[in-house]
Amino acid sequence: MSVLFLFIDGLGLGPDDPTVNPLAASRTRWFRLAGSLPPPGLDGRMVVATDATLGVPGLPQSATGQTAILTGKNAPFLAGRHINGYCTRRLAELLESHSIFARLIAAGLRPAFANAYTPRFFQDARRLRFPSVTTVAQRKAGMPLRTLEHLRRGEALYQDFTNAILVGQGYDLPLLSPAEAGARLAALAARHDFTMFEYFQTDLCGHAQDFPRALRLLEDLDAFLTAALDGTDRSRDLVVVGSDHGNLEDLSRKTHTAHPVPTMIWGVGAEAFARRIRTIADLAPAVLAHLRVGGVGTLANPPEKD
Ligand SMILES: [Zn+2]
Repeated sequence: MSVLFLFIDGLGLGPDDPTVNPLAASRTRWFRLAGSLPPPGLDGRMVVATDATLGVPGLPQSATGQTAILTGKNAPFLAGRHINGYCTRRLAELLESHSIFARLIAAGLRPAFANAYTPRFFQDARRLRFPSVTTVAQRKAGMPLRTLEHLRRGEALYQDFTNAILVGQGYDLPLLSPAEAGARLAALAARHDFTMFEYFQTDLCGHAQDFPRALRLLEDLDAFLTAALDGTDRSRDLVVVGSDHGNLEDLSRKTHTAHPVPTMIWGVGAEAFARRIRTIADLAPAVLAHLRVGGVGTLANPPEKD
């Protein structure tokens, strides 16, 4: 009984307008998501339009959104605003006491963060000083960051999942097809209770308003996800795709959007999982409940004081 969580930065549910929304123009199996959603279970998945604003004015941003996803807490409300970019001290405090990684480890389960970090990351003083939320969450939980050694052994993926960026930078690594990368992620997930992979080329592409690239990214993600699903025993395991805020679904503007984001769920317990999801802060409690880690609740029904 494992959970694979594919986190896709900046993927929202927008209007069914193929002139501005690549998800409306997409011919992919899983990412043609615009306008009305597929009926529950019809194509083997549940899709939930999921609030990312969390009732806080302004456009949702990555640091608070990802903290909400990882902790189940209303991070933008607790921080006073939506925060973009690196992890602040307040968000780090939330992650230290509430992150899903820390909760799983405390319950004796094995979480994994599949992304590999480069030597450049460990030498970059600015990035070490201003880390991302997912990096802080791993560190606060005592999880060693995966490196290119893990990548070479097939035990990690780079953030673009094909290694194309690293090969372009001169690293001696094999290029993976999206399908090979998806199979690798599924194999990693089979060895852990909860496995998260973070993909953010979608958000960068949304800010760049690059429509042709957006279509290619969705095709690659589709092949990646299809292989990850094919490599997963869905009679036993759960696969979840989620995002922190909209962006890619409206290329008429450079900014994030206030649109809901898709939460897509496949596998055992998918319907019960879907019923728990209203906002992005419901994801961690839903995963913990699915894995039967006690004392969890939702924003609407908190089991404990913050
Ligand atoms: Zn962004």
